[in-house]
Amino acid sequence: MHPIIIVGTGLAGYNLAKAFRKQDQDTPLVMITADDGRNYSKPMLSTGFSKGKSADELAMAEAATMATELNATILTHTDVQSIDPQAHQLKADDRVLMYSKLVLATGAAPIRLSLEGDATDAVFSINDLTDYGRFRAALPEQAHVAIMGAGLIGCEFANDLHAGGYRTTVIAPSSQVMPGLLPTEAADSVRSALDALGVSFRLGRAATGVFRAEEGVRLALDNGDSVSADIVISAVGLRPRTRLAEEAGLAVTKGIVVNRLLQTSHPDVFAMGDCAEVDGHVLLYVMPLMACARALAQTLAGDPTEVCYGPMPVTVKTPACPVVTAPPAVGVRGKWVLEQGDAGIKALYQDGDTLHGYALTGETVREKLSLNRRLSPVLA
Ligand code: FAD
Repeated sequence: MHPIIIVGTGLAGYNLAKAFRKQDQDTPLVMITADDGRNYSKPMLSTGFSKGKSADELAMAEAATMATELNATILTHTDVQSIDPQAHQLKADDRVLMYSKLVLATGAAPIRLSLEGDATDAVFSINDLTDYGRFRAALPEQAHVAIMGAGLIGCEFANDLHAGGYRTTVIAPSSQVMPGLLPTEAADSVRSALDALGVSFRLGRAATGVFRAEEGVRLALDNGDSVSADIVISAVGLRPRTRLAEEAGLAVTKGIVVNRLLQTSHPDVFAMGDCAEVDGHVLLYVMPLMACARALAQTLAGDPTEVCYGPMPVTVKTPACPVVTAPPAVGVRGKWVLEQGDAGIKALYQDGDTLHGYALTGETVREKLSLNRRLSPVLA
């Protein structure tokens, strides 16, 4: 019997394998990853500086330990180059492997801005444990870090690096932090709290180039200004890795298109995690991939199970201003209604009495559970 093959050993791949092994201990399982296959929790990457953790300290288990625990073969440092759904085979570093079912859990890749200048090698993305280790090795003590991007990840790194003893400047073309996730007033609270810590902001400005300077680097901004720094993080967004699926002729739009069985346009190829677009939803968070892992494990074990998403709130790890947000789906009718007090901001996105989303800051985050009960599920 050909094995089930999972491509990817991030949270999606490993959580699927764990859930599958609870249902089925015997079916041969092969996991393939381009990285070293260490098991780690990616959200910890943006809390590691305040805790003074190295990449090795964030790793929870080596690939060999995971292979034993999961009764699986794990191929590390192995790049899957192509898949052939009709022949049930894939090519990985010039080996051809056959599978019975294939799961793509290939994650999302950082978007790279095209920047001018001779110091673009000082620009780092931190999207996995290897990136984190590489950045830490290059980070001078008490450095001034410029962060391009004021989204969730840019804000988390700003807060965490500050708490770890580094100076930070956040640069982004948007006029507020976390656009798309927070209404303006809640975003302003986060910005003010980070400001009060000493984080600098250059909002409404895009970086256009990174140049070597006498000390460190100089970032050129689109209005002619510049920002000096020692090192730069790019946190301008992630894009689902869809190349393998696309080249194999599988349906792809924003992510790899799957139905609620997590099945692509070929019945024996599945996708989940950051690379997948599940019934129209691309959600680059842990909660959705955990729901997918549970459902797909049942399906692979012979009991076809559709995934359900309940409310999907996101906790933003900015201790300077705690935030929980459940943004309304794009295009949903309604408007933000705000309550602002000493405890923080409670913003509800409502259409009449129907709650479609919320954003909570400060002590109001305690209301998360009661609001979740009022929210409609993302995928009933
Ligand atoms: P990944 O972890 O990216 O794994 C992809 C895997 O695919 C890797 O093993 C890679 O080697 C492999 N791969 C890709 N292409 C190939 C190929 N061609 N051949 C072989 N292998 C391949 N979410 C939350 O819900 N809460 C948070 O607080 C939170 N914090 C975050 C903080 C940071 C700094 C970041 C970057 C993300 C955060 N997220 C958070 C998002 C969350 O971590 C991700 O949604 C989740 O980890 C994605 O897991 P994944 O397994 O889909 O992808």
